[in-house]
Amino acid sequence: MAGLAAARTLTDAGLAVVLFERGERIGGRVLSLELGDEVVEAGASHVWSFYRRTRWWLERCGLTAGLCPAPGQGPLPVSRGDLPGIARAALEVAWRWRRLAFERPELAAGLDTDTIAGYAAHRLRPDFVEAALRPAFEWNAFCGLDELSQVLLLQAGRLYLRARPQVLAGGLSRLAMAMAEDLEIRLGTAGDVQRLRRGGRGVVVELASGDAVDCHAAVVATPPGEASELAEPEPALGAFLTGIRHSAVTRAWWHLPARMSDPVQLLRARSGVAPAVLVAARRGDVLKVAAVAYGAAAAETWAGSGASVGAAMEDLAAALLPEMWQRPCLARAWFHWDRAVTIFGPGHFRQLANLSPGLAGGAIALAGDYLVSPTVEGAILSGERAANSIRSHILASVIGRAR
Ligand SMILES: Cc1cc2nc3c(=O)[nH]c(=O)nc-3n(C[C@H](O)[C@H](O)[C@H](O)COP(=O)(O)OP(=O)(O)OC[C@H]3O[C@@H](n4cnc5c(N)ncnc54)[C@H](O)[C@@H]3O)c2cc1C
Repeated sequence: MAGLAAARTLTDAGLAVVLFERGERIGGRVLSLELGDEVVEAGASHVWSFYRRTRWWLERCGLTAGLCPAPGQGPLPVSRGDLPGIARAALEVAWRWRRLAFERPELAAGLDTDTIAGYAAHRLRPDFVEAALRPAFEWNAFCGLDELSQVLLLQAGRLYLRARPQVLAGGLSRLAMAMAEDLEIRLGTAGDVQRLRRGGRGVVVELASGDAVDCHAAVVATPPGEASELAEPEPALGAFLTGIRHSAVTRAWWHLPARMSDPVQLLRARSGVAPAVLVAARRGDVLKVAAVAYGAAAAETWAGSGASVGAAMEDLAAALLPEMWQRPCLARAWFHWDRAVTIFGPGHFRQLANLSPGLAGGAIALAGDYLVSPTVEGAILSGERAANSIRSHILASVIGRAR
């Protein structure tokens, strides 16, 4: 989404843009899958009421009418006057947890969710804990303090802004497709960027196909690990980018022909590969099994073990949901993200600002959710900002040449 927002902002400014994408589709971590008659989100799904730029693009693409309330996300039961105080307390707790998780990981690892929930209940109002945090604790049964503090931050923000999440009928990929319309896009090996270097008119883009493309400037809108390889940044920026941690998420769906008697189950287990939570919920004829594993620890375990996460999760589901598993089903889908959601450590933005992400004298700009917030909104905002800095760079070099 960061790349699409950057590309569209630059074409709006009258510049010629080519979008390189190494996958076979655009959208990155926005991916809506068709399963039978249903569209299910394998990646991002929720558009919150405070997503100002995302909503602007939805409006521009004529998709606003497709927004509908996200299922199971009602308002939190606290009165308006209480909001600032509760949100401030929640932010304070989240901040303490975050510091502890990053600065004393050995101590944080020893805390179980009951101890953490007990501390939250002591510091925060019980109705907030019950309404906003308890479900998050259930959902994130095995994840660490760093993820829980992220959840708490989100809940505090949601409460403070009285925000409601919505989903886009037909899937969020519709927004990606609409933003991609009329753009010149190269996919697969033709779009797989191996290296960016200074030269030619400004930046030379070297592709996996062996071709090289000469450009005035480039926006690198990849996740941080790839960005550090591509942009040949100063070593300190490279080390910072590769050090950014992520959560892992696996999602699965079964399309079942008949109704299940027990519509929702919450199961916790260890898959042998990573800690896992299975939440099975029915929507129409689709049984959705979500958040199979979540957390930076899971991402690291999987990346390190080299095991097939899909296979491990299928075994786990077969063991935990035997009745469901044996039913004849019309379709099944699994989707695994080993670097799903960026986890920001304390001082993330301060360090980023000090390292100045503008590269090659301003000819290369970075974009991506890790620069703003780990959301579609953060990605879009970062893309727009990168496009604006590239536009200024090009304008300055044109004026420089004219002089
Ligand atoms: C399961 C899941 C649920 C989520 N839920 C939500 C939600 O409900 N609401 C929300 O707001 N956010 C959610 N998010 C987060 C949101 O999806 C991301 O923050 C956002 O989509 C990130 O966009 P991005 O453009 O920064 O990165 P990406 O979407 O990762 O895009 C980067 C692109 O760069 C391409 N690329 C990488 N390297 C190269 C290369 N060398 N050459 C060419 N191309 C390359 C990749 O293939 C990819 O397409 C969720 C994420 C996941 C995974």
